[in-house]
Amino acid sequence: MSIRRQLTFHGILLYRKYYGEHGMLIKFFTAECGKKMFLVRGATRSRFKMKADILPFTYGVYTGSIAYHGLSYLKSAESTHHYLNIINNINLNAYATYIMGLIDAAFPDSHPAVKWFDKLYYGLKLINDGLDPEIITNIFEIQLLSVFGVAPDLKGCVICGRHDLPMDYSDKYGGLLCIHHWDHDPHRSHLDSKTVYYLRVLSKVPLKKIGRINVSKRTKQQLRRQLDDIYDNSVGLRLKSKRFLDQMQRFKL
Ligand SMILES: [Zn+2]
Repeated sequence: MSIRRQLTFHGILLYRKYYGEHGMLIKFFTAECGKKMFLVRGATRSRFKMKADILPFTYGVYTGSIAYHGLSYLKSAESTHHYLNIINNINLNAYATYIMGLIDAAFPDSHPAVKWFDKLYYGLKLINDGLDPEIITNIFEIQLLSVFGVAPDLKGCVICGRHDLPMDYSDKYGGLLCIHHWDHDPHRSHLDSKTVYYLRVLSKVPLKKIGRINVSKRTKQQLRRQLDDIYDNSVGLRLKSKRFLDQMQRFKL
């Protein structure tokens, strides 16, 4: 038996797929109860009223019959908006899809994470507003590491704690090493100082407060390589949406 309750909630649509003859399964990241899967009956019928409310890259206020376990049902949409530039740009679309894939992988269903709901809302808004999607994506990747149980120490050298010296990242130590301790890890990342600076800044910057991003191509390439290393070696997550993003980047070069 599944207990349901009627609830008005704030949701960002993470994912949708066709279900049965006319239905659709829709996953929302909600502010109130985390990730929730909804069955929407009749979603593909031509006279279905909520068509625009359940398009990809939509967010808003909805009412549904929420089950703690299993499928919930969507009843109505009160006020919904679209990240229009993301919808219309395949490049932005790929970044946003990957970020939502990360959120989907990071949290179990029904696990309230309102802080992350806000982050996702602002992150997608910044991408939609034209800020650098690569850096916004890096912010999610770095800040989600602790949710994935990997929390690299980016405050200071993991051996001596100093943070006023040239630093490098060490996968072996799961954090930074100062120049005096580089000999501890012959396989350290060999990042330049700017990249280390950005790793540290992006790990704590509030998305809500970002107004401008200006990071060089070289630094972005190093950040990409470092984060790929951490995700491959420590998190062990390989999303299809990330592979698509990588392919897209290669075609652009
Ligand atoms: Zn040190």
